[in-house]
Amino acid sequence: MAFDSLSEKLQNVFKNLRSKGRLTEADVKAAMKEVKMALLEADVNFRVVKKFIKGVEERAIGQDVMNGLNPGQMVIKIVNEELIALMGSETTEIKFQPGSAITVIMMAGLQGAGKTTTTAKLAGKFKLKGKKPLLVACDVYRPAAIKQLQVNGEKQGVEVFSMGENHKPANIAKAALEHAAKNHNNVIILDTAGRLHVDEEMMAELQEIKDTVEVHQTILVVDAMTGQDAVNVASSFQEKIGIDGVIITKLDGDTRGGAALSIKAVTGCPILYAGMGEKLSDLEQFYPDRMASRILGMGDVLTLIEKAGQEMDETKAREMAQKMKKAQFDYNDYLESVKQMKKMGGLASLMNMIPGMNQMKNQGVDAEEGEKRMARMEAIIFSMTEEERANPDLLNPSRRHRIAKGAGVDISEVNSMVKRFNETRKMMKKLPGMMGGKKGRMKFP
Ligand code: GDP
Repeated sequence: MAFDSLSEKLQNVFKNLRSKGRLTEADVKAAMKEVKMALLEADVNFRVVKKFIKGVEERAIGQDVMNGLNPGQMVIKIVNEELIALMGSETTEIKFQPGSAITVIMMAGLQGAGKTTTTAKLAGKFKLKGKKPLLVACDVYRPAAIKQLQVNGEKQGVEVFSMGENHKPANIAKAALEHAAKNHNNVIILDTAGRLHVDEEMMAELQEIKDTVEVHQTILVVDAMTGQDAVNVASSFQEKIGIDGVIITKLDGDTRGGAALSIKAVTGCPILYAGMGEKLSDLEQFYPDRMASRILGMGDVLTLIEKAGQEMDETKAREMAQKMKKAQFDYNDYLESVKQMKKMGGLASLMNMIPGMNQMKNQGVDAEEGEKRMARMEAIIFSMTEEERANPDLLNPSRRHRIAKGAGVDISEVNSMVKRFNETRKMMKKLPGMMGGKKGRMKFP
């Protein structure tokens, strides 16, 4: 995930600071030098970095350390607040036209940025808000783009309006508006054509759409993997046609993440959503405060909880929590929890959101290895009978032999899995106290 390397470097800087009793001006300056290097290496815009460091330094030097914090934590607090400010402080929502009026949204961006995919992802979000979106295929140069929009629209259960390749995008937009009025759609999302580079022709085409229909929101889609190019693209679009917001895609990839930190500061345009994967559900609202927490390795518990709420069946979640409390957790519950976890993006993505887990990753705790281990555990459980799954205490040596044979693994592996499972059950019994109890409350850092 983006920011891994930045996150690791920042945490090292803070670790060094934390070991100090008091912070001198020289300490702060030395630490800020390292933060500056880390941000530049993360591909954050140079001018943005300069301003950011100046802001943090001014606040950190000469500031009284707050009650309950050590000087290192104080600096983290300031860096956190400044990171949030850098990304725009507030979450920006896409504005809809009031009443039953139709909101027209035009998607723009270079080819391959993820425009068509994001258009379909957005439609899903709008549906959840009770809207009735209509997707419009205005990319008339790539027949594959029309098909792609149709396929994704169908997956989302959203209608796609297309007139093929032989009409001007502006005319398609106009016809789509008439169609939407008859069809009671209240949001139209125009998927426009991209080019490999910013060029006059593309801008002219977008402008023509804007001149023909009233576009309420122009949203630019940029690819985080392209780093500072994404920021330059955003500046060009802002200058030439004007944009209301940016969606940054592929933040799940191995990008250094600098674009996400620079776009608002350079263009003045807020980031609305972040694309976190290829699946149509992989679009997250952009919360500057949660993103800052992720970058600082403080986890993003709120997004995790929301994801759990969206993906998990609520009754199942409640049942499972009850079972955990009473240590009645069995192998069926384990299978269910693995299933839910996969739905939420797997172990690696969850590790980024849980406080402290990111540090574990840096210490060599490997999500991939964990996932492999989970797959073997699943294979073993699949070799159990229904009765055994529901009652872990039944697993005597002869049953374990049979299970090992069925799963094609050594008996020692079954034994160690059963042992770990029983230990986990015991731990779960204690867990509610650990999380909520006064003494055991989890704390950062
Ligand atoms: P367009 O040319 O701008 O319409 O781009 P597409 O929507 O066709 O996307 C280009 C590629 O990027 C496709 O393979 C998408 O699956 C992929 N993609 C889009 N958004 C994301 C994202 O957030 N994460 C990842 N990993 N891939 C994405």
